[in-house]
Amino acid sequence: MSDAKNPPTTTTNGGIPATSDDNSLTVGPNGPTLLQDTYVVQKMQHFNRERVPERVVHAKGTGAHGFFEVTEDVTQWTSASFLSEVGKKTPMFARFSTVAGELGSADTVRDPRGFALKFYTEEGNYDLVGNNTPVFFIRDASKFLDFIHSQKRMPDTGIRSNDMQWDFWTLKPESAHQVTTLFSDRGTPRTLRNMNGYSSHTYSWMNAKGERFWVKYHFKTVQGVENFTDAEAAAMVVADPDFHRRDLWDAIARGDAAEWRLEMQIMPFEEAADYRFNPFDLTKVWPHADYPPITIGRMVLNANPENHFAEVEQAAFSPGNLVPGIGLSPDKMLMGRVFSYHDTHLHRIGANYEQLPINSAKSPVHTYTKDGPMAFRHAGATPVYAPNSYGGPQADASKEIPMWWVEAAEIGRYAYELHAEDDDFGQAGALVRNVMTPTDREHLASNIVAHASAGVSPEIQARVITYWTNVDAELGSRVASGLGYGNPASKAA
Ligand code: NDP
Repeated sequence: MSDAKNPPTTTTNGGIPATSDDNSLTVGPNGPTLLQDTYVVQKMQHFNRERVPERVVHAKGTGAHGFFEVTEDVTQWTSASFLSEVGKKTPMFARFSTVAGELGSADTVRDPRGFALKFYTEEGNYDLVGNNTPVFFIRDASKFLDFIHSQKRMPDTGIRSNDMQWDFWTLKPESAHQVTTLFSDRGTPRTLRNMNGYSSHTYSWMNAKGERFWVKYHFKTVQGVENFTDAEAAAMVVADPDFHRRDLWDAIARGDAAEWRLEMQIMPFEEAADYRFNPFDLTKVWPHADYPPITIGRMVLNANPENHFAEVEQAAFSPGNLVPGIGLSPDKMLMGRVFSYHDTHLHRIGANYEQLPINSAKSPVHTYTKDGPMAFRHAGATPVYAPNSYGGPQADASKEIPMWWVEAAEIGRYAYELHAEDDDFGQAGALVRNVMTPTDREHLASNIVAHASAGVSPEIQARVITYWTNVDAELGSRVASGLGYGNPASKAA
């Protein structure tokens, strides 16, 4: 921290004392500015390079440091060392974000929220890149580009389009469950502290005996779920576009740490085959009654970043960062993300992004990758190839992440295998009918109507009505009358 009464001397980035903070070198008071003023030239050159490419999705984020603490013995399910004993604490960094908006966009718009977590464990960094919703819009990574394009901007006008969004959603009815959540008041959380986080994906855990389980993570806000109504969220866009960022920062700065309880749903490995829903389909939840959530720990965020760019903008998460005892599942979205996140950071930040302090493991790193732009971590004179005869690091076969088997099959473009109760609308309907209050349902209908009224063609509005009628007949007729059509059946026909 600088001392205002006794500030340090300004320097170049090379540490050389600067002569002036104000005046460029010129030939006399009215003469040309000189290129030999390397200090000023370098200031301008660096300014031109201040940005790294913003993320294509989840561009606007907010982060905080904290820790995870184990509160229940989970060794019967996983050998992950950071979960190995009750009371064990692991330092963490969390980044929350909106999805569709750009870097400077408003915080309170209707959107899912990213819920990205980095656990700095003693066996490397474990990243869990979730959302504040337990499901997602699509179930195969090959559709991700199409989905995101439909939520972003039109190619000609550069403007977002509700017509494009409803066109995509109604043509991909697997989106219905997530769109139901998005248009409920959970699509406009009051603060980042007042929302839950979900792995959404199914992952696998393996214990020391090699027994495997399928798991889902639920981070439940201890502050309680609180949402804005559509009108409150819209008003806050105008009043304070950085409201969520400010709220989290201010809370932590005043010593009001934010906390989430980690609850796990755990499915014995063999039960996946006959479960009533395909347990790897990201558009479905596992109903709590089938796999009751078990509380195993808590996440506490209690320290603000010192520098937003260094710690939040350059924070890089990848669901491929798994630690021994934790693995993937046959979720086709997850398998796509395992490739895509690391690839994004290589492009966005650079080949050595994992050397930056925010991304760097706090455990030893012994790797045969080397060099590249901005490399500064190295292992001195140790071997750069394996195998070698000179004491280079050696892999440890016991540190396997859990895997699953597949029967020999023909390579092909397969859809998910449908289990007994799989369809696109059933769980969305259950949410509307069995979970939502009458007020929730009212808000859901009016939120949909407001959005589908603005710039959506009559043809697509007809599909919107059919879509919601398939979720729930009563909701469908509310949407129909809100959009100005009395009878959904006549409009949808
Ligand atoms: P339950 O009645 O056991 O659980 C319903 C869950 O829905 C609640 O625990 C809560 O999850 C969440 N919820 C409560 N109010 C709302 C709301 N207004 N909008 C969105 N979610 C809300 O039912 P099931 O487990 O059988 O699931 C029924 C439906 O609930 C599912 O189809 C799904 O849409 C939704 N749901 C289910 C979750 C799950 O993992 N089983 C998780 C979240 C939603 P939470 O405590 O996580 O806030």
